[in-house]
Amino acid sequence: MRSIIVYCAVAAHLCTTSLSSTIPTNSESVIRLPIHEDENHSNNADTFSDIFHAAPRDSRNSWSKIRNKIVVRIFGSGEKHHGVRIHPHYSSGSSSSGVQKPLGDTPSKVPYSRYQNDVVLRFNITTTDEAAALAEAAEILFLDVWSATKDHADIRVDKDVVESLLGLLPESLQSSHARLMHDLAATVRETFPGSSEGPSNPLSPHSLSQYSGPYRPGQSEHFFSNYQPISVINPWMKLLRSLFPDHVEDFSIGQTYEGREIKGLKISKSGEPSSGKRKAIVITGASHAREWISVSTVCYLAHAFITGYRPRPFSEENVEAELGDREITRLVENFDWYFIPTLNVDGYVYTWTEDRLWRKNRQPTSLGFCKGIELDRSYSYKWGGQSQNNPCSENYPGEKEFEALESKNFAAWAQNLTTEGNTRIMGFLDLHSYSQQILYPYSYSCSQRPPDLENLEELAEVLAKGIRIRHGEHYEVSSACQGGGQFAQSDKDQKKDAKKAKRSQKSNGDDFMLTETGGGGSALDYFYSEIGVAYSYQIKLRDQGSYGFLLPKESIKPTGQEIESMVKSLGNFLIGDDKL
Ligand SMILES: [Zn+2]
Repeated sequence: MRSIIVYCAVAAHLCTTSLSSTIPTNSESVIRLPIHEDENHSNNADTFSDIFHAAPRDSRNSWSKIRNKIVVRIFGSGEKHHGVRIHPHYSSGSSSSGVQKPLGDTPSKVPYSRYQNDVVLRFNITTTDEAAALAEAAEILFLDVWSATKDHADIRVDKDVVESLLGLLPESLQSSHARLMHDLAATVRETFPGSSEGPSNPLSPHSLSQYSGPYRPGQSEHFFSNYQPISVINPWMKLLRSLFPDHVEDFSIGQTYEGREIKGLKISKSGEPSSGKRKAIVITGASHAREWISVSTVCYLAHAFITGYRPRPFSEENVEAELGDREITRLVENFDWYFIPTLNVDGYVYTWTEDRLWRKNRQPTSLGFCKGIELDRSYSYKWGGQSQNNPCSENYPGEKEFEALESKNFAAWAQNLTTEGNTRIMGFLDLHSYSQQILYPYSYSCSQRPPDLENLEELAEVLAKGIRIRHGEHYEVSSACQGGGQFAQSDKDQKKDAKKAKRSQKSNGDDFMLTETGGGGSALDYFYSEIGVAYSYQIKLRDQGSYGFLLPKESIKPTGQEIESMVKSLGNFLIGDDKL
């Protein structure tokens, strides 16, 4: 028998009743979980099977197998989880923070084989009991929840444990699930440039050479025909700034944990800055590293605004102006636009070099083998660390609010912009994927109404229409807590099974979450409540689950186009808003 240290995420009484007497009694303790190579019985089986009300008594063997598979999946079998492994692409040089810095993010190094044994299952949810069971499975077994809405949950799991897992969930869920994507590893591979069109490397000089010389419309066709790594995006932003110096500035909101700059582009009216307070819109992508479509879409928007803006007057003589977009020109005249394609730069680089499906940042936690803090649960507003303290969780919010440096720097940047920068942020759009949703505050609780609910809902519908008129895609509108799979426990449910309801409770009263989005500490709630951005939204981009995070690159342009249409609707609405 060998053993491994495992963070005890379950309630204290479950740890202490089922595991050995050496285990500390508080719920945040590290415990030693025995791993049996070939076991027929383990005390731990009782610990986990007890959590599922539907677990049959003869399921101990299944639980042993599931647990071992999952432990191997999370902690791996090699050396990489026993400390911070420095990738070969990381140089021996160090940043000011003393952290290793990358030389590049060449995608060819990604080991696709790591996904060969995984499948993504969609469970259709019709009752809160089902949602509660899945939520508990996700938390206890460290399952990777890709998406959760009020109707369904998509969960990535090792295919060898699917059958056993299903046997332990409520009967109704066993027949109401379907597999998404036939071959996950192949789908991962196809999201990288060059996978289906010969040796086209986004790092090759060709990617950037097209930008030499005078700028021409349509010049970025190649850029948006593939997802791009940060080593292409940053020079591309720099190039755009140098090509359009009159109305484009580049800026940094600070550094990531690994010492990379978090860069963005500001687009504003050329000429003398007008007196008085500036109004601004802030648009961000990739809080979650694997949501590549959010990065490409922010780049698409920035490019559309940069190339679409032409100072007035439009005239026959002013051919340059005619190449622009009158609607965008009007929007730039009214607002400063801040585009930040990649908040989670370290995580994004990691998705290109090591793990395409990485979500969190790359900051160490108290457990060396479980890195990363969830940026979108790290903000200070209603930070929910009390309800989730497992560093191995995909939703780990850190030990304290703003422990994630990227979130901390972004919040400080926004605060500074509004105070020192004489700017009022009118709109905040946090782009994510997937599931095609427009989500408004609050994220932290379904039982609290935001003060401007009617306004938020009204504009959300306008945004949805803005998207729909471009390519006909439907984006659902809801509050972030509901859209993110947070469920309010009804009185009926509680009476029906009081014990289960109690087990499902989190810090938000009677709500519980099966969630990819939603929860406390979100950027959405922070910008709405702490920065005072009246129109704050999280937009979950394409698709609705056919490819999930692995959206084919052919969707980059249509997604960019429909979100450009949405952003125009946002700007037009704000210009027409009496309160401005
Ligand atoms: Zn996300």
